[in-house]
Amino acid sequence: TEEIIRKSEKLTVLGELAAGVAHEIRNPLTSLIGFAQLLKEGNAPMNERYTDIMLNELKRINEIVGELMLVAKPQAVHFEYSSITDMLESVVRLLNTQAIIKNIQIHLSLEEETPLLYCVENQLKQLFINLLKNALEAMDHGGNIVLSLTKKKGNIIVTVKDEGVGIPNDRLDKLGEPFYTTKEKGTGLGLMVCCKIVKEHNGHIHFESIEGKGTTVTVTLPIYPFVRVK
Ligand code: ADP
Ligand code: MG
Repeated sequence: TEEIIRKSEKLTVLGELAAGVAHEIRNPLTSLIGFAQLLKEGNAPMNERYTDIMLNELKRINEIVGELMLVAKPQAVHFEYSSITDMLESVVRLLNTQAIIKNIQIHLSLEEETPLLYCVENQLKQLFINLLKNALEAMDHGGNIVLSLTKKKGNIIVTVKDEGVGIPNDRLDKLGEPFYTTKEKGTGLGLMVCCKIVKEHNGHIHFESIEGKGTTVTVTLPIYPFVRVK
């Protein structure tokens, strides 16, 4: 029965996801069909504004599909021992320019020595990129983001703390559900991808937030995710 329940839960999630995807992709598609129709009839002034809209809609579909592939594709996942310190440093390097432009300082706080983590490096990088991007996007008035790494019992703990707009309380435990976004150009898929990645590493993700003050995301990753400890 447990298996059956798990399977039906999976199907429900899948159904919801499919419905969401269909809906999200249909809007830009409908608008693209409209523009294409106008073009075909030859009475559309094919100005830059039209092509811009079309391009934007296409980009949006592409983004949605891109993020979905991260969760959908049964990629050849390759677990190996990797340095989480190196990953965090490279992710910060990647997003630092964007931060500087927004007058945001990213502080990286590392431990002297951290054990290598048995993980899929590309997935963990994606996880931290998604979290850092959300932090950056939440801060329109500059400020600080603290990315810190600590060790605790057989776990590595990474926190991303921002001084952004925060998240309303009633949304907190629903984070990770697809297509919730408060951003004009958001996909609402970033956190779903994060949750999936953390789960595949047998870890936990936790959100704390105060509206108007900021948000702290805590990711706990077991160093040996597949070893049963009695
Ligand atoms: P997206 O970034 O495309 O909107 P996400 O799944 O990454 O999708 O995030 C979903 C929503 O959760 C965001 O639109 C935002 O409202 C909220 N959120 C996530 N992280 C933060 C954060 N650090 N600060 C404030 N709001 C956040
Ligand atoms: Mg995001």
